[in-house]
Amino acid sequence: MELLDGKKISQQIKDEIKHTVSIRNKKGLKIPHLAAVLVGNDGASLTYVGSKVRSCDQVGFKSSLIQFKDSISEKYLLLKIKELNNDDTLDGYIVQLPLPKHINEEKILLSIDPKKDVDGFHPSNFGRMALEMESFIPATPSGIMEMLKRYKLDISGKHCVVIGRSHIVGRPISILMSQKGEPGNATVTLAHSRTNNLEKITQKADIIISALGIPNFLKGNMVKKGVIIIDVGITRVKDENNPKGYVIKGDVDFEDVSKKSSFITPVPGGVGPMTIAMLLKNTLISCERKDS
Ligand code: NAD
Repeated sequence: MELLDGKKISQQIKDEIKHTVSIRNKKGLKIPHLAAVLVGNDGASLTYVGSKVRSCDQVGFKSSLIQFKDSISEKYLLLKIKELNNDDTLDGYIVQLPLPKHINEEKILLSIDPKKDVDGFHPSNFGRMALEMESFIPATPSGIMEMLKRYKLDISGKHCVVIGRSHIVGRPISILMSQKGEPGNATVTLAHSRTNNLEKITQKADIIISALGIPNFLKGNMVKKGVIIIDVGITRVKDENNPKGYVIKGDVDFEDVSKKSSFITPVPGGVGPMTIAMLLKNTLISCERKDS
């Protein structure tokens, strides 16, 4: 079994980005600028946004954290988004999800300028991705593809089972894995909560990408020997022995499944850090598009 070390690979990507930024700096070119919009005080969202902003500092990007109380109206948030769309100093921005219940997430995502949509959630970017056109690819699926590429894992012609059909992970990664190209060319099964006999399907998989959010869901008896495992799940599980009061768990029963797998991502330290690295990459791409 070999670990797919997202921490190490994401550091390589960040070093490459940092190098590019320092060259841009020397040439007097624009320094990438990413903004994050955070509504409310959700603990997990604060942690995610905090690490995105810190990562910007690490690679030499400018970053802005735009925070609102969770009582903010949808109308006011839409107004602020319009301002971000018109702000020429910004190369990209993200709106951290979930938003409070009184705000329509779809309305907010649709109002983001696709040229600044570095999360790749806007239908224009999603559609372009599905059609294999140039686009911003959502950071988590993009991070998984980059990891497969850098570990030179041969997935062409292999059977990949994706568990979970969310718009931000399951659905896009199922499209990317089946697309023509390297990495890609996999034969994909997209499983979800209504799938019958899931274990019969996962037992035949050469690659399993699990994105459902149920800790330790995937067990050793559900996989075949030699399988490649990508665990996207991040769930906070209460743990009184931990100073934070919780531990982070993936979807995969690591101890059990790693005995049979050829490659496996740990949680934490697998897909999570790759997601942030690819968000930075999308921001750099957005900035570079303005050069010409
Ligand atoms: P989601 O929560 O929107 O949806 C879960 C999906 O799992 C649904 O499509 C559902 O059909 C499927 N599902 C639920 N129970 C199932 C079952 N018993 N069998 C088969 N399928 C089942 O999904 P999401 O937003 O993609 O998040 C999934 C997990 O990935 C969460 O733990 C989330 O925190 C994590 N996540 C991690 C990253 C990262 O950077 N590592 C990024 C995004 C999400």
